[in-house]
Amino acid sequence: MKKKGPNFIEQIIDGDIARGFEEKNLRFRFPPEPNGYLHIGHLKAICLNFNLGEKYNSPVNLRFDDTNPEKEAKEYVDAIKHDIKWLGFEWNKECYASDYFQQLYDWATELISKDLAYVDSQTSDEIASQKGSPTKEGEASPFRNREKTESLKIFKEMFEGNHESGRHVLRAKIDMSSPNMLMRDPVLYRVMNVDHHRTGEKWKVYPMYDWTHGESDYIEQVSHSLCTLEFEPHRELYDWFLDAISPLKGIRPKQREFSRLNLSYTITSKRKLAQLVDENIVDGWGDPRMPTISGLRKRGYTPRALKNFALTVGVSKRENVIDASLLEFCIRADLNQVAPRAMAVINPIKVKIINYEKEGGEKINFEINPQDKSLGTREINFSRNIYIEKEDFQENPEEGFFRLSPGEEVRLKNAYIIKAVELVKDDKGEVKEVVCEYDDKSKSGSNTPESNRKVKGTIHWVSSTNSLKAKINIYDRLFKVPEPGKGDDIMNEVNQNSLETKEAFVEPYLGDSQEGQQFQFQRLGYFVRTENKKTLEFNKTVGLRDSWKK
Ligand code: ATP
Ligand code: MG
Repeated sequence: MKKKGPNFIEQIIDGDIARGFEEKNLRFRFPPEPNGYLHIGHLKAICLNFNLGEKYNSPVNLRFDDTNPEKEAKEYVDAIKHDIKWLGFEWNKECYASDYFQQLYDWATELISKDLAYVDSQTSDEIASQKGSPTKEGEASPFRNREKTESLKIFKEMFEGNHESGRHVLRAKIDMSSPNMLMRDPVLYRVMNVDHHRTGEKWKVYPMYDWTHGESDYIEQVSHSLCTLEFEPHRELYDWFLDAISPLKGIRPKQREFSRLNLSYTITSKRKLAQLVDENIVDGWGDPRMPTISGLRKRGYTPRALKNFALTVGVSKRENVIDASLLEFCIRADLNQVAPRAMAVINPIKVKIINYEKEGGEKINFEINPQDKSLGTREINFSRNIYIEKEDFQENPEEGFFRLSPGEEVRLKNAYIIKAVELVKDDKGEVKEVVCEYDDKSKSGSNTPESNRKVKGTIHWVSSTNSLKAKINIYDRLFKVPEPGKGDDIMNEVNQNSLETKEAFVEPYLGDSQEGQQFQFQRLGYFVRTENKKTLEFNKTVGLRDSWKK
């Protein structure tokens, strides 16, 4: 891949360094909320932060933004760590916003003392009704000028669990007439009588995202806090909160925004992905049809291909939708270089070569990967009885069909030219077997003029006496529409036929493959051996050609 120039975030950092920011003080973080598995959108943020870490030789923290115990769980923490490691990135510190709950609480009481925060005892509906709109000023809460001592007392009671959820909230005292709605006295804390997967039952008040995020960046001394564009209006609040706890020591973090990754025919919202999991549309977060990192892994995607995809997409400030075919292009390019070749017949039809009489057949050599000759060759047994794909035979060939049909010749890959001479049909008239004759001098690579004889088509095959049965999972798009998630109900946009399972015949060396190993099944696409140890099973990663083109 051609090296690109610095992206706009790198330009910002280079500018900061040029103005005197010490390079050794650079620090980044990737801040997932552990309320679901990582998806292809997160990949962009992960690659951005960790690539910056590599480029500037700076630490990158993994920070779990775990402030909402109702939705979060350790299962997600573990899956997120596993996925980032699998991608090949190493974080410096593993941090949790929940580790800062005490510090955040102490700062919050400080804000009350400085008259920068107050306890509001209205209902959430009342608070919402006073918010105003971008064109209409908000209305001050009747509690806005409550005595500091009273706010401090109630806030402590909230912390101690003396108040029902919803009874009081702590709000920052900023500006109810700000054109930025987020500055209209945002909520810092709400009462939530829910146990947390890390802090147990200690906390009865939980901090909100905006309050937590910037202060966590400061605690960790993150220099550049990168987030997606929808957080641009939050920047003002981010800075206000840092000012509120000033004077600061050390680095003052800066928030900068980049565009989200949107991929056609895909959703990148944990909430909607969770819906697919909960409603059993897919088999968990790691289903090979899911745009999660774990799903892509099971589908046969490699860390190299995913990182290359992120690099190709780049980092910008412009919202756009990336074509799903780009992701496929990246995995195809990668696997073409590294995947051993193999033959598999997914929709088999029998072929009997009546004039082939070599007892026990013969061995034929195949290159393991023509892109990498050093891998050498493998042997495949050729025999009188073979399987070919049903689609490679037509009894009444349509125009332009150059494969096997009655009276016509075709070459069997790396082997002989055969001609169909007779058809065996069942009661229903369906062809069960194609009886062929072969040209015994036409073997590929032999020293006969016939070995170079050109016929119009070449097809793949496996020996019926020397092949293994394998289960093959073939996937179609999970969504029928180019921009799923825009309509009322995502369920109406789901493709109900996105998984097809086949019984195939494959060449024997696939029996020795390892879980997670990738292959190119010739003429069919790229496949990955599944984690199912009991049976020989493969997931189709991607076809050989762009399947998204109409
Ligand atoms: P979701 O909408 O899926 O819940 P999120 O932003 O709430 O996404 P987080 O776990 O909070 O999910 O995100 C962690 C980081 O990943 C954040 O910095 C966020 O900006 C970034 N991120 C999330 N989705 C995308 C995306 N589609 N493209 C780029 N970055 C993303
Ligand atoms: Mg989030």
